[in-house]
Order: sequence, then structure tokens, then C-alpha cells
Amino acid sequence: MAKILAVGEIAGGVLKKASRETTSVAKKLGGTVSSILIGSGAAAGAPEVAKHGADTVYVGEAGTYNGEAYAKAIADVVKSKGYEIVILPHSWIGRDISSRIATLLNTGVISDATEISMDGDRVKIRKPVYSGKAFVSLKVKASPQVVTIRPNAHPIADAAGAGKVENITVDAGASKAKQVKFEATGGTRVSLTEADIVVSGGRGIKGPENFPLIEQLADILGAGVGATRAVVDAGWCDHTLQIGQTGQTVSPNLYVAVGISGAIQHMAGMGSSKYIVAINKDPDAPIFKVSTYGVVDDLFNVLPPLKEELKAALGK
Ligand SMILES: Cc1cc2nc3c(=O)[nH]c(=O)nc-3n(C[C@H](O)[C@H](O)[C@H](O)COP(=O)(O)OP(=O)(O)OC[C@H]3O[C@@H](n4cnc5c(N)ncnc54)[C@H](O)[C@@H]3O)c2cc1C
Repeated sequence: MAKILAVGEIAGGVLKKASRETTSVAKKLGGTVSSILIGSGAAAGAPEVAKHGADTVYVGEAGTYNGEAYAKAIADVVKSKGYEIVILPHSWIGRDISSRIATLLNTGVISDATEISMDGDRVKIRKPVYSGKAFVSLKVKASPQVVTIRPNAHPIADAAGAGKVENITVDAGASKAKQVKFEATGGTRVSLTEADIVVSGGRGIKGPENFPLIEQLADILGAGVGATRAVVDAGWCDHTLQIGQTGQTVSPNLYVAVGISGAIQHMAGMGSSKYIVAINKDPDAPIFKVSTYGVVDDLFNVLPPLKEELKAALGK
């Protein structure tokens, strides 16, 4: 039976959804499942990941994020306890530490799995490549097997685990890099990669003065806010909101594309969304080829009544 370590994320005692996903995926793969949580208030997350199958939960209290220290602590647990498979979220933290962990363990890393299974004792994954034009199947050859999974692309399942807590030390003092500042962006809105719903704006919104239309619709739906590169490059919103090949990858249940043409580079970042709703005045816009529902109209005609209808329907 494989020994699998699921890496979670927690901050301020609030468990990120990614922690439930990695633990659920580890449980689905079979074997003995443990989770590891590093961050402020990490202990609070232990009973939560146990609900998804973690028998042991390693808990490391840490103040501010430090990739070097997090990776070292996780690699030490993998080595000392003999874990054969490490599953991380393909979030910005997961991307940062997975390669560091792989380096410390002298192994490789396979990233951004949208499907994952076991083939004998090897992890097998499938993921989109070439901006979603093709899929590739990969099998991990190196050991330990380190894999990151795309957020929101894997079901969360309940499976009671023993949840035995083991405290670990995270030593940021030994780090070669010194963090001078940490600035969280996005305010109180749900983070893009975790959001069940994402509302994104494209060049069709015409200018920065109209970006609040996107934000207002997102707030009514409790959604994350995204944008195309055209909008980001024009400075109409913060660059962290960019979705696509050179931006973030999202996999929400619902993606609302407003005034977005559907360029291949944008679709690389949202093509695995479950439902896509597009609002575009051009009936030939490529976004309609991938959308579940399409509204062919001027977004400035559609958004105001849509917001009112949604507010009434959702009691807001
Ligand atoms: C190497 C490389 C990497 C890239 N990476 C990314 C990336 O990560 N993310 C990304 O998004 N792009 C990326 N791009 C850019 C990409 O090719 C497109 O240029 C970009 O996605 C287009 O953004 P858009 O859909 O907002 O704008 P446009 O393509 O200009 O589309 C605007 C759409 O709005 C519609 N519209 C206009 N007015 C209205 C209205 N009033 N009501 C309704 N609809 C309206 C139009 O019909 C049109 O379809 C990359 C390009 C390259 C070369």
C-alpha cells in the first residue's frame, strides 16, 4: 500500500479548499493517507482534513509564507516517514514549493493534473497541453512521486480518517531569502483559483471605468473576478486577475465571459470550466464554440438587467 502525503494550505486558521482536494485525491488513489498543513493556525485544519481521509496530519505553525522553509519541512517529513507519493495543489504556493520539494528529494515533479489515477504503483495523470488543443497522459517514473493537481478539477469526498496530529517544526531562520514585505491582493473576494464561479471581463467592456460592472456581477454571485490579457495590459485592472496561458488557470463550475473573444491563449486558462456563459455582441466570436450558454448582445444592455434579476433571485 502506497504511503501518500497530501499537502494542504491554511492561513489564519482558515483551511483552503485545496487542502480538501489534495486529501480527497490521495484517498482516491488508495493506500495510507496523511496530510500536512503549514501556516498560521495550522492546527485548526487537522480535524477538517481528517474528514477527507487523513489518518495522520502533520501540523507546522508558521507566520508569513516562506517557500524555502515550507519545502524543507515537507521534504523532511517525506524522507523521515518514507512517503512514496506527494500530492500538492497547483496553486501559487503549490507551484513554488513542489519544485523545491522535488529538488530536495532528488526527484521530478509532474504538474497541473486534471485527472489522476494509479497504474500499479505509479501515478498516472492527464492534463491539457498546447493551450487546451490536446491532452497528454504522463506516468511518474522517479521516486518519490511528486504531483500537483489543478484546483477545482477534482471532486472532494468525505472519508473519515483517524486525524492523529503530529507537530513539525518549520524553520524560516535557515532560509537564504529574507521576506521584506507580503502584500495580499484581492481584498475580501474569493481567490480566483478556488472560486466556484468566476466572472471575467474582456476588451468589450471598453475602458477601466466599466470594470466595476464585472466586479458588481461577481459580488452578486459571490464569484472571483478575472480578466483577459488585453484588459490587464491596458491597465484596466490588476495584472493578478489575468486568466490564460500567461496568467492564472481556473477551473470553476461556472465561468462568465463578458466581452471576451475567446482567443486560444485565454481559453488555455479557463477551458476546463464546467459551464461557460459568454456575453458577446459578435455571434462569430470563438468563445461561443466552447460556451454552454451564449448571449449575443451588447454587454451594456445585458449586464444591468442581469444584475437586477440575479439580485432578486438570490435575495440580495
Ligand atoms: C504569447 C501570448 C500569450 C498570451 N496570453 C494570454 C493570456 O494569458 N490571457 C489572455 O486573455 N490573453 C492572452 N494573450 C492574448 C490573446 O491572444 C488575446 O489577444 C486576448 O485574450 C484578447 O482579449 P479580449 O478577448 O479581451 O479582447 P478581444 O479579442 O479584442 O475581444 C473583445 C471581444 O469583445 C466583444 N465586444 C466588443 N464590444 C462589446 C460589447 N459592447 N458587448 C459585447 N461584446 C463586445 C467583441 O466582439 C470581441 O469578441 C496572449 C497572447 C500571446 C501572443
